[in-house]
Amino acid sequence: MALQVYLNGKWVAKEEAKISVFDHGLLYGDGVFEGIRSYQGLVFRLQEHLDRLWESAHTLMLKIPMSKREMEKAIVETLRINKLLDAYIRVVITRGVGDLGLDPDKCKQPTIFIITDKIVLYPKSFYQKGLEIITVPTVRNLPEAVNPSIKSLNYLNNILAKIEAKNSGCAEALMLNHQGYVAECTGDNVFMVKAPKSSKGMSQVVTPPVYLGALKGITRQAIMDLAEARKYEVTETIMTRHDLFNADEVFLTGTAAEIIPVVKIDGRVIGTGKPGKVTEALLRDFHRLTRTDGVRYKIG
Ligand code: PMP
Repeated sequence: MALQVYLNGKWVAKEEAKISVFDHGLLYGDGVFEGIRSYQGLVFRLQEHLDRLWESAHTLMLKIPMSKREMEKAIVETLRINKLLDAYIRVVITRGVGDLGLDPDKCKQPTIFIITDKIVLYPKSFYQKGLEIITVPTVRNLPEAVNPSIKSLNYLNNILAKIEAKNSGCAEALMLNHQGYVAECTGDNVFMVKAPKSSKGMSQVVTPPVYLGALKGITRQAIMDLAEARKYEVTETIMTRHDLFNADEVFLTGTAAEIIPVVKIDGRVIGTGKPGKVTEALLRDFHRLTRTDGVRYKIG
């Protein structure tokens, strides 16, 4: 059976899942989305993803014409119909069909679709050897202009950064904010690890505060919780490239990536140049968490 996509209350075959060229999601990137994962029949942090989706929509004054409970049911049903236990889930809500002007009030009905598919994993080498990333000239959107905390359909800022990284032979870009502080990567949050300050101390796990221009990542929060459970010193602190260059470990977090070690930034080797112990411990904890924590569903 062809992959079934939820589209405005119905399930249709992938080939039939089409939307209008007058949809403002397409014409203007006017809409919101979430990327979610399920692991062995458990949807990871579904409530948190729905909360973020509703918050993004609220800021855009886009009223989602269903409840969170109904959305949860639609997501789980889409997974069941497609018989997917390990999946990547994309939930999209656009402003809907309007005319060629910007006016969102002309769009009477939001378009809602849910795609569930097999998860495409990043190459194993990313995790075994670690990534080399590069700082790109495109700065992260100003929070006062398009706040990066809104997970909107307008990803050009990130795409420009991705193009610049790829032009330089790197898979991922480090994005700074307009003041030159570290913000995040194009689709992942960034963390650094510093060795304990004293022999009795614990490692420090640090990530930039989201108000500097980052998405409030669900994986980011899960990693902060896991790091605290390990009694690491977890802080949200302003950081520069210099801080990252001199960290003992750096890693990225995101729904698709989970945790990817970074071993080189702008030509500077990070720590030993290999994925670090803290990164690896947190990745193990994260894998355990995804197998125990989530909204359970059955197929067949
Ligand atoms: N930053 C950006 C810009 C993102 O698009 C994402 C999601 N891919 C993240 C960070 C990570 O967020 P999450 O852990 O919720 O997937």
